[in-house]
Amino acid sequence: MDIQYWNREVETLDREGLARLQLKGLKETVDRALQTEFYKRRLQKTGIRSADDIRSLDDLKKIPYTTKNDLREAYPRGLLSVDTDRVVRLHTSSGTTGTPTVIYHTTEDLANWTELCARGIVATGSSNRDVFQNMMGYGLFTGGLGLHYGAETVGMLVIPSSSGNTARQLRLMKDFQTTVVHVTPSYMLHIQSRIEPEGYKREDLNLKKAYLGAEAYSESTRRKIEELMGIDAYNSYGMSEMNGPGVAFECVFKDSMHIWEDSYIVEMYDAARQRELGEDEEGELVLTTLRRTATPLLRYRSGDLTVLNGAPCRCGRTHRRIARIKGRTDDMLIINGVNVYPSQIESILMKIPEVGTNYQICIEKDGSLDRLTVKTEIYSKMFTGDVQVLEELKRRIREQMKAAILINPAVELHEPGGLPVYEGKAKRVFDTRPKD
Ligand code: ADP
Ligand code: ZN
Repeated sequence: MDIQYWNREVETLDREGLARLQLKGLKETVDRALQTEFYKRRLQKTGIRSADDIRSLDDLKKIPYTTKNDLREAYPRGLLSVDTDRVVRLHTSSGTTGTPTVIYHTTEDLANWTELCARGIVATGSSNRDVFQNMMGYGLFTGGLGLHYGAETVGMLVIPSSSGNTARQLRLMKDFQTTVVHVTPSYMLHIQSRIEPEGYKREDLNLKKAYLGAEAYSESTRRKIEELMGIDAYNSYGMSEMNGPGVAFECVFKDSMHIWEDSYIVEMYDAARQRELGEDEEGELVLTTLRRTATPLLRYRSGDLTVLNGAPCRCGRTHRRIARIKGRTDDMLIINGVNVYPSQIESILMKIPEVGTNYQICIEKDGSLDRLTVKTEIYSKMFTGDVQVLEELKRRIREQMKAAILINPAVELHEPGGLPVYEGKAKRVFDTRPKD
């Protein structure tokens, strides 16, 4: 396989070289952090008064974790480390789990972010010959503008279509022969389901690749998208607190995402047991920025669950990989005492060929018990009027759920288009149980 790099030197730097870059970056970051109101206070107790107090990467462990709540409390300016005249842009998070957080960028920050996005794009084998349609929302959400500049820098022809308006997305894809899209997995599934109803055939499109991110999804969803569309789908991870997209990207081998360790220090944390984890153990991803100037973050607890993989990759990149994100730590559902992540339910559904491109997970209280209802669209050819066929499918879905997650759900089947569509991050879980 032909392996391309955007920044070969850094992407293939040996681990000692990376550690040297990290130590330098950490010292600079601590100095910058001490310019912020938040870290000035936070670092007081640690005895770290300047970069000189950071002698090795281990000194990072003296610094307490930073949480999303800290960012919310420091809103709007408590984490700003430079004069406002140096700041050129701000972004906020989507606010999926509460009040949004703000991150400021200098020109230098934007250039670094752009570089990380360019590395990811090139790692998937894309180049300036590609036509890139960016279906992530443009605006405060980082999904749009983030990858946009990376793609332009690589020299791709960029179509900033933003999210939504499926008919227009398809027309643009056909008219400009789009080869790569950047999109949430849920919206990709929806786009696929609209190709024929909008009057197109797959052959009208020239799509080769999709970059899927911004929400948790299972490997079976990736496969389903790849098979239905006849494309390669690459996992792309990021969050506004760490810039946005471009933090970690799959390479051509599509086997977990390289996380750029010259720009972030990666740690893993087990929140339940309050202990640090090593490689190959599932836990919460914790990141420290190394190159960010306007909003440095030290040991930021992402809330995302993954596994760090230090095995060498065939692409030659030395930056370690993180596994597909299982979900956020607070996504876990407890249904009649059984712990389950929505991505596990999704994984089962998407393996069943009759299941269509949209689903919902609903949980309600039924007396003293919890009741799980899985609502899923199925392909219209299944609605033949033969009730037995549908009953058999429901039974099969129930059985597979029972076998995999030990919960026996009620199953509701819907026609294509029967469930609400989300053009950005999808809302899949509807939990109406009273909170205690
Ligand atoms: P919010 O946290 O409010 O949704 P962001 O827009 O910054 O704000 O979204 C970042 C979050 O999106 C990540 O923390 C993660 O939970 C999720 N995410 C992003 N990319 C992926 C991905 N490839 N797989 C799973 N989850 C992802
Ligand atoms: Zn690789």
